[in-house]
Amino acid sequence: MQKANNDELILALSKGRILEETAALLDAAGIALTEDPETSRKLIFPTQNPKVKVIIVRASDVPTYVQYGAADFGIAGKDVLQEHGGAGLYQPIDLNIAKCHLAVAVPKGYDYQNAVRKGARLRVATKYVQAAREHFAAKGVHVDLIKLYGSIELAPLVGLSEAIVDLVSTGNTLRANDLVEVEHIADISSRLVVNQAALKLKRDLLQPILDAFSKVAAG
Ligand code: AMP
Repeated sequence: MQKANNDELILALSKGRILEETAALLDAAGIALTEDPETSRKLIFPTQNPKVKVIIVRASDVPTYVQYGAADFGIAGKDVLQEHGGAGLYQPIDLNIAKCHLAVAVPKGYDYQNAVRKGARLRVATKYVQAAREHFAAKGVHVDLIKLYGSIELAPLVGLSEAIVDLVSTGNTLRANDLVEVEHIADISSRLVVNQAALKLKRDLLQPILDAFSKVAAG
């Protein structure tokens, strides 16, 4: 396995919201990307700092790359970190980006509270099985969790489930599919995660970047 050299840093990011909202942080830390990953098929990108490279991976894979030291640090949503479990990761900073919340939603007109009160066994579709299991267990609600990898909002519309657990940002996706939020589970934002060995071995390279990120995150 090719690991990062001791005199270079690898930052793991994902495309979409995190990449967009990370731009100001990368700028402030002197590691702005010199190419746009959104329009390239490459997976490893140079930055303004010759010692720092960015790799583009799936959002849910960011903690795994950092855990095994294939990336020294990364940015991932609290939702993704909770599903991963956080082993081997140091989480020094809440970057306050890609904010949203995890919620339970059902089709408009479905009496969720009544179903819960009656002890009905609900089928709940979600990408966030771990967070959903904890939420319903804490409430003592019996659910069958159905793991999906995308288009979660579709599940109750075609009878795959009665409810969903998913991320909500503006609420537009729920509204467009005639779904309503019935429970707010947790606020979510993106966190910086650092490989614990890299934090010790590459402190000189890492610390100025962590400091710059903290400063921007604190506003
Ligand atoms: P919205 O329509 O703005 O409420 O966004 C909801 C859709 O975007 C859902 O499909 C979510 O899974 C997804 N989403 C919202 N916020 C985030 C985020 N911070 N990270 C990843 N996916 C998100």
